[in-house]
Amino acid sequence: MHAATLKTFFDSEGFEYQYHCDAPLGSSVSVYGTHFAIWAPTAQRVVLYLHHSGHEGWAYASHDLARGERGLWTWDTPENLDGVYYGYDVTVDGETRFIADPYARACGLNGVRSMVVDLARTNPPGWEKDRAPKRQSEDIIYEIHVKDFSCDASSGVPEKYRGKYKALTLEKTTVNGMGRRPTCLNYIKKQGFTHVELMPVYDYGSVDEAGDPNAFNWGYDPVNYNVPEGSYATDPYHGEVRIRELKEAVQALHKNGIRVIMDVVYNHTYHLERSCLFGAVPWYYYRQNADGSASNGSGCGSEIASERSMCARYILDSVLYWAEEYHIDGFRFDLMGLLDTDLMNKIRQALDSKYGEGEKLLFGEPWAGGRSAERPGTQLAHKGNLHLLHPSIGAFCDNTRDAVKGGLGDPRSRGFASFGEFNSEWLACCVRGWAGKHPMHAFSAPSQTISYLSSHDDWTLWDKLVYSLHGDRRFVPRREDVLRSNKLAAAILFCCQGRLFMLSGEDFGRTKLGVRNSYKSPLRINRLDWKRASRFRGLTEYYRGLIALRKTLPGLCDKRVQANQRLIEVVSPMRGAGAVRLDNRGKGTKYSELMILINTTQEPCSMALPEGKWRVLVDGTSSFLWKKPQSVSGEAEAAPVSALVLGRELG
Ligand code: CA
Repeated sequence: MHAATLKTFFDSEGFEYQYHCDAPLGSSVSVYGTHFAIWAPTAQRVVLYLHHSGHEGWAYASHDLARGERGLWTWDTPENLDGVYYGYDVTVDGETRFIADPYARACGLNGVRSMVVDLARTNPPGWEKDRAPKRQSEDIIYEIHVKDFSCDASSGVPEKYRGKYKALTLEKTTVNGMGRRPTCLNYIKKQGFTHVELMPVYDYGSVDEAGDPNAFNWGYDPVNYNVPEGSYATDPYHGEVRIRELKEAVQALHKNGIRVIMDVVYNHTYHLERSCLFGAVPWYYYRQNADGSASNGSGCGSEIASERSMCARYILDSVLYWAEEYHIDGFRFDLMGLLDTDLMNKIRQALDSKYGEGEKLLFGEPWAGGRSAERPGTQLAHKGNLHLLHPSIGAFCDNTRDAVKGGLGDPRSRGFASFGEFNSEWLACCVRGWAGKHPMHAFSAPSQTISYLSSHDDWTLWDKLVYSLHGDRRFVPRREDVLRSNKLAAAILFCCQGRLFMLSGEDFGRTKLGVRNSYKSPLRINRLDWKRASRFRGLTEYYRGLIALRKTLPGLCDKRVQANQRLIEVVSPMRGAGAVRLDNRGKGTKYSELMILINTTQEPCSMALPEGKWRVLVDGTSSFLWKKPQSVSGEAEAAPVSALVLGRELG
């Protein structure tokens, strides 16, 4: 069938009615033997090939699968084929493609062949006792890339584990392996982050798993959605190793009080016609333009047709699999704006009913990378449709990001922290996470807001501040000026409702030497430089204080729709400065109200304080003042380019 005809065929209700299939898919071993199943309703023939190796030699056996109802093809054997590699020849319209199993749970080198796996065999010791640590009062997420996190010698990680899952299991690493300055897990724990978000750890295609050890890619090019990436394993050849090592990493993070979020990229596949999804059912999993060509809403060559029922099932199954098999605590959806709201809500519901309400975090990018060709009637999960999403499905808030550090259009554009335009009302919007009933707000509650200033995309916060403070070319900003702006930006971020998120290294002035999109830049650009964490320990400490304080402030941690009623007043003491007064009542706090004074100017800013006993919690220099807070009354003063956070004592 022509591609355009297929589009009409797959979009018809009759197709779903006749072929939607709920049978288990993939390969599985049990006491009865091994079962293979693949959904391929348009295929004329499906042949299974069995291999002893994951990457070399010919098949030692082949078997025709039997066609059953609803497009399901199966083959059974009484043998236990645990550890055997396999793949399928799928013939559609006379054309045969060799593919890996779309439901593969294990694979050989570079994901070319799938592997039958008895998953119990991949569990590290103590895995059955592994539990996520107790949820804290706030979620503060640190985004890391397995390779750039520990590949540098400064990480203090033994060479054989650098850039690997294994590095995430080491608890006592220090800068260069000497002294007491922590790195990696040791550092994250000390800073007080509650979650790490792993940039893609499913199997992706841009890095040869047996190739140059210095090859680098972010990994937004999915090949096998349900198998870990092999280049982060100590052995990419044997399918069970990457599984065990990723589980060990999750286990170690859990043991150290940190929950684990996974970055998932269901919106497109690395290849189109060479992907296993395309090979199994040509075009079914992909959105098409009217002429039959692939729609490119991802900007990466293809986009997934999440509104089709077996595609929706595929994504839901995959999320549930990672949550169950790998104990993953949350999911960050890349280009969530390409997936439909029905599917996202269904995923939320399925996770809630299995693990408890809100237990697993769910959020994504509420935008796409291009124009989508979704089926008419489909509502996509972009920023304009957040009201259609469950209140516990979050989205990155670009409003706060751009207000604080300047827009992305021009590296020199400025924000609150870099002498850009300032407006107290915008500041109040940021504080409220752009949530609630307000014409400028897209988020229905702070539970939907991911407040952030930096992620792997675009310039690091440090680089953006350097660019925007640069002014005319003769003036190079002094490090202390950038630091001052960085601290102000951080203080504003920590006064924003919603969940907090940052790129690893934001808290030590991470630089990618001005490179904006470093997805395939060399390691020297991407590597996390842990010596810098030691050099910038003033900044690191400032973040650490903000993290610790934040967890104790109910006025900011509140995720309910009603959180916006905590706003008491917005004050504008002078041009370029603003204050937001918040109701902070709640469990475990000494302060009934907060006063957040932001001074973006080069002059000191003083403002009259309302009646009551106020104490200084944070100023531009220290974020630990709350440990021994000085009292202040009548008037408060914020130094140039700084934040001042005050708490009003209860009673
Ligand atoms: Ca791979």
